[in-house]
Parts: sequence; C-alpha cells; structure tokens
Amino acid sequence: MSTNKFLSLGWFKETAENAIANVVANKLESIMEEEEISLKTHNVKPCLRIQLSNDILTVVLNDGNILTKPGATEIDFQNAGKAKTEDEVKAIFYSAEVVADIAKIKAEEARIRAIQKGIQLLADLDDFIVEGNTVYLKGTSRSLPQLLVERFIEVVNNVKYYTGFGDVQKALNENDDYVALKNFFMWCCLNPRAEVAHELYRFLDENSFRITKQGFVVALRNVVTLHGSPELVHFISNTYNKVKATWKKNPDHYTVFLQDGEYKLVHDDKLTIVEERTSTDCPDCEGTGGFYDYDDIWLDCDTCNGSGEVEEYTYTVEIPVDHGQRIGGLTELYLDLPNREENRFTDDWTKTFDIRIGQVTSMPKEDCNWSTQDCAAAGLHFTADQIHYVGCGDQSVIVLINPMKVVGIGQHKGRCFEYLPIMTVPREEATSILHDGMFDTLQLDEEYAIRELESLTEKAKEGFATESKKYEFNMPSISAKEINTIVSTLSEMKATIKNRVTTIK
Ligand SMILES: [Zn+2]
Repeated sequence: MSTNKFLSLGWFKETAENAIANVVANKLESIMEEEEISLKTHNVKPCLRIQLSNDILTVVLNDGNILTKPGATEIDFQNAGKAKTEDEVKAIFYSAEVVADIAKIKAEEARIRAIQKGIQLLADLDDFIVEGNTVYLKGTSRSLPQLLVERFIEVVNNVKYYTGFGDVQKALNENDDYVALKNFFMWCCLNPRAEVAHELYRFLDENSFRITKQGFVVALRNVVTLHGSPELVHFISNTYNKVKATWKKNPDHYTVFLQDGEYKLVHDDKLTIVEERTSTDCPDCEGTGGFYDYDDIWLDCDTCNGSGEVEEYTYTVEIPVDHGQRIGGLTELYLDLPNREENRFTDDWTKTFDIRIGQVTSMPKEDCNWSTQDCAAAGLHFTADQIHYVGCGDQSVIVLINPMKVVGIGQHKGRCFEYLPIMTVPREEATSILHDGMFDTLQLDEEYAIRELESLTEKAKEGFATESKKYEFNMPSISAKEINTIVSTLSEMKATIKNRVTTIK
C-alpha cells in the first residue's frame, strides 16, 4: 500500500475493491441518432431522377425538390448516380460550406425536435409544470434555464429507458443524478438573484459541472498554508473523500495508522488476521482432564474421560496485525480536523481569512456585490477547474458551495459569500480531479447539507429582504408559500442522509 502524504486518485482507482460501474448518461443526441438511423437504414436512393442535358445537370430529389447545376461535367453526373445520401448529392451542387451549413441547420432542427419531445416527457411527470416551452419545477415560480431543461431530459430519458413500464417517478426519486439536479435548482430558487441561477448553470455546464447529491456546487480554489506540516490534514481529507467518491465505501470502516513515519489506511477486515490452528487438548477442560466441584472434589471431564486429550481438531484465532501507531478512525479524524492545529490556511489576497478543512469560510454577504466580472469584485472566489484563475497560494482545495450563497458568476470564476473546504488536492490533480468520472462528487459531504437546512426558511426570507433593500430596481418576488414549499422539498433529503451517515457530530 502506498503511504504518501496524499493517496492519489490513481491509487484509489487501481485499488477499487469492487468494480465501479460507470453509468454514462444517455446524451440527448441519442434521441436524434435514433431518428437519423431510421432514415439511413431504409437505404433509399436519394434521387428520383438524374439528367445531364447539354452541360446542365438536373436532379429530382425524393421530396420532389429539383436541383440544377449549369456547367456540369460527366463526372458530376456519375457522382450524382453513385450518391448514397442527399448530402452527397447536394455536395455536387453546393460548396462544402453550404453543405455544412445545411447539415448544421438540420442538426439544430433535430435538437429542437428532441427537446420538444423531451419537454413532453417532463410534462408527464409529477415534478414538473410545463407552459409552452417553459418548464418549472412544481412549487417554484422561476423557470428552469434551457440548459438545465436539457439535462433533466437526458436524465429522465435514461431512467425511463431502464425502468420500462415501471414507475418512472419512483425510479427518478431514487436516481442520484436526478435528485442532485432537483436539489441544485431548489437551492438556486432561494438565491435572491434570479440571474445567478441561470448564470451558475451555464458556468457549470461550460466547465466541469460537478455537484453533490444535495445540490451543492463542487469547486476549487487556492489557499496559503499557515502551518508548516499539514501532512495529516492532506492524508485524512483526501482519503475520507476519495473513499466515498471513488470506492463508494463508508469511511467509518477505516482506521488511520502511523508506521515508519508514514500514514496508512486500513480497512476493518485488515485489522486482524485469522489463523488456523490444530490441537489435541480437550476444549472443555482445556487439557487438564477435569474440574474441582464446589466441595473441592475432583471430577473427571466427560468429554475426554479425564485424559485431557481428544482427537486432533482445528480452530481459528483472530490475531491483531501490527500496523504501527493507531491515529484514529477515519470518520472521527475527519470530523475533528477543524480542531487540529496544523489545519490552518488563509487567502493570498488579504491574508485574513481563517480557512480550515471541514469548517465553513464566510464573509458578510452585505459586502459582496453582484457582478459578472471575473476579478476585482468582492466575494470569495472559486473556479470549476481553471485553478490558475483563483488567486495564488501553495495549496488547492475542493470546496462545496450552496447555490443560494453565490453572488456572482464570471467566465471562469465565481464568487460566493460562503464555502466549505472539504479536502486539499495534490497539485498534480488540481486540474483533473473534477473531470474524472471515477471521482463521483454526488457522494461528497452530507453533514453540510444538514447544517444548511437548519432554520433555512428564516435565512431564505432574510436573504430576499436584504437584497431588495440594496437595489433600486425590482427584485424577483417570492412568496412565503413558495419558500416553504422549497424548504420542505429540500428537507426531504434529511431523512435519507440520516439513514446513511452514522456519525453526525
Ligand atoms: Zn476434557
């Protein structure tokens, strides 16, 4: 077992105890492909009639359209006859660019058809309200951004395919991708700035798009290490999250040891080894041949008739394995990280923030202003994967952000007034980890969600009130009823989390 200060993602991938099934979401294109394949498989000749008269080539297409080309050659004529598709025929008449343009328009038409078909799919479900081409999640008054609608269609289409005639809505409620998208948008609706929801989704879509099942955004930023040797922080935060996201295992079943100056991760099953032994000692009298009774009178053992020996038999003993110094259980160590002295980081710009893995970093939201600028505007900066954009520092960290707390989105960077750093990231993984399909962010921190749900109704109402005071123009209004609906929908995740997480402190 490698015992570096980081356990690399590569190590986790190679060491997976169980094969991890990668479910690739059916892309929207698959609907389009079906349509196109059905056209192609008919193998119909693209033209009804081809004619070269003088130097004018005339072709009548299957749909009755007529194409003509003056100055045509014998080769054009032959090519038209050999053409297998309409596009090949058109290539004889138009330049490559025109043909490409036509193909593009067709693809766009097919996409729109697929979306319309998809929207119908959503309309049939309990969770959505569809008005024309506008889609709402039930109980909310903010329309879903187009890109998010497309993503929902993909997921629903995929789940529907695997569910067959079963209950699709039920299957969706158990689908992590679906639940994550729904939670994500519910949190967005509680953000007083409507444009954040749309911009945030666009930003995620253009970058690595990683969210947790609770609907939080997974992002990166750089920090400055204050303490000289945060090796244990690296080891624990990396291991804890990679056990969850890569192995999909419960960190409760792992223990951290220190051996020969290196940290080591050990599963419960490897704490002891089972050894098989043989013996002829009688198991009842332990080889002594008998017992003294209450009156101190010797009684021969019935099992061995007083001999103390029986026929050779085998038995097993559990022997603890020497893994070195026990540091603690992985989960308990992770939850205790904020209390550890070496877990101290700050920001490079102001050098004032107290940043700790496992503890929320925040600034007063009154001090943040809405802006689409990448730099200069106030707020806590984050990126989806362009790590070089988010300040200097010697250490990259993965942070979770509640969409409700995002104040601005630029091209590659976003700003928020609160984030939770959940792990340090090895330099060589900083640009790749959020693109790695084997690092399943849906499985990341759940306790944060429980904390975020506390007195959420009040926090949401306060957020809207503060924002509307700040600006002259009209704020999108939200009713108390809508807030309650959203909060109760989000609160449903609490029960699921509590069933799974055994240690909540
Ligand atoms: Zn005996």
